[in-house]
Amino acid sequence: MKLAKRMSRLGTETAFEVLVRARALEAQGRDVVHLEVGEPDFDTPANIIDAAIVALKSGYTHYGPSAGLPELRQAIANEISSTRGLDVKPSEVVVTPGAKPIMFFIILALAEAGDEVMYPNPGFPIYESMINFVGATPVPIPLREERDFCFDLDEFRSKVSAKTKLIILNSPQNPTGSVLGRDDLAAIAQIAAARDIMVLADEIYNRIIYDGEHVSIATFPGMKERTIILDGFSKTYAMTGWRMGYGVMPEALAEHVSRLQTNSNSCTASFTQRAGVAALTGPQEASAAMVREFKKRRDIIVAGLNAIKGVSCRLPKGAFYVFPSIKGTGKSSREFADRLLSEAGVAALSGTAFGAYGEGYIRLSYANSIPNIQKALQRIEQFVATL
Ligand code: PMP
Repeated sequence: MKLAKRMSRLGTETAFEVLVRARALEAQGRDVVHLEVGEPDFDTPANIIDAAIVALKSGYTHYGPSAGLPELRQAIANEISSTRGLDVKPSEVVVTPGAKPIMFFIILALAEAGDEVMYPNPGFPIYESMINFVGATPVPIPLREERDFCFDLDEFRSKVSAKTKLIILNSPQNPTGSVLGRDDLAAIAQIAAARDIMVLADEIYNRIIYDGEHVSIATFPGMKERTIILDGFSKTYAMTGWRMGYGVMPEALAEHVSRLQTNSNSCTASFTQRAGVAALTGPQEASAAMVREFKKRRDIIVAGLNAIKGVSCRLPKGAFYVFPSIKGTGKSSREFADRLLSEAGVAALSGTAFGAYGEGYIRLSYANSIPNIQKALQRIEQFVATL
C-alpha cells in the first residue's frame, strides 16, 4: 500500500496509546492507577442525560444542519456573550463532534505550505501534528517552568514573522495548567491585530480555573474579527464520550468551517445537541462542584509530589493536570513514564508527548479520586527511590 506523503507528517495523541498499554497490564491482573487520560472522572449531570433521552424519544434521530441546530447555536452565542463579554451571533458558531474538529478544520482552512503557525510547546500534541499535516511550518513557543509555563513575550515577539498566519493559544493550558494573564494577552493581541494574524484560542478549560480569572483574547481591541474561540462540553460537563464542541469565529470563516463539516461529519448528532442546550441553559451546580473537587485534588497531588526527592511541581492555576519536573531523578521523561507504568503501576504521560520542550517533565491528570491519587503518590515515591 502506498500512502499519501502527508500521512507521514500526521502525529498522534499519546494518551490513547498509554491507555491501551495500561489496559493490557490490567488484563494480566496488574493494578494500574490511571493518571494518563484527560477526562473528568465524574458522570455527566443527570439533567443533561435526561434531555438526551427526551430528544431521542421525540425524534432527534435525523441529520441536522452542518453548523449545528439553531437552538444550540443560539445557546452557545448567549453563553459566549455572557462569559466572555462579547456580542456573539449564532451565525458565528459552528458545532462539531468534540472540540477537536475545530482545531482540525481551522488549521486546514487557514494554514498551508509557506505559512508559519505559532503554538505552545509543551502543548496539546494535535496542534503540531495538524500544522505539519497541512504542510505549514510549526513555530514552537517554549513554555518554561521558571516563567510558570507562560510565554516569554520577548521570545514570542522574536518569532513572529511576515509568514506568521496563525497563533494558537491555550489557557488554562494542557499539560501545564498555566493561565495567561491579561497583560500577556494584551501584548499578544496587539501584535496579532497590528500584523493581521489570526488567533485560535483553545479555551476548553475556561471554567476549570482555581486562581485568577479566565480572559479571552477575543475581547481585546481588533481581536474579535481575528479570533476563533474553541470550547466545548467535554471538560465542563464531563461529556468526553458524547463528542460535542464548538468554535466561535467570524461569520465568513464559519461558512468555510461548516463546509469542511459537510465534507466530513455532515453534522453533530442531533440528540446530543439537544442535550447541549440543556447543559448550557440548565443548573450549573454539578459543574461548579466538580471544579471545587478538582481544586482539593490539585492541592493534594502538588503537595505529595513536592515531598518526593528528585521531583518538584508548580501549583497549576487551571485545568486538571500537573506537570512536575523529574529532572532531579536523572532519567529521561520517556523512560520515567514507561517504567512508572510497567514497574509501579501508575499510568502517566512523558512530557515529550507534548513536544520537545516537555523533556524533564511528566504529565499527571488528577481527574481521579483522592484515594487513587494517594495510592499513585505512594507508588511514585517508592519508584523514585529505586532509581
Ligand atoms: N483542547 C485541549 C487543550 C484538550 O486538552 C482537549 C481534550 N483533551 C481538547 C481540546 C479536545 O476536547 P474534545 O474534542 O474532547 O472536546
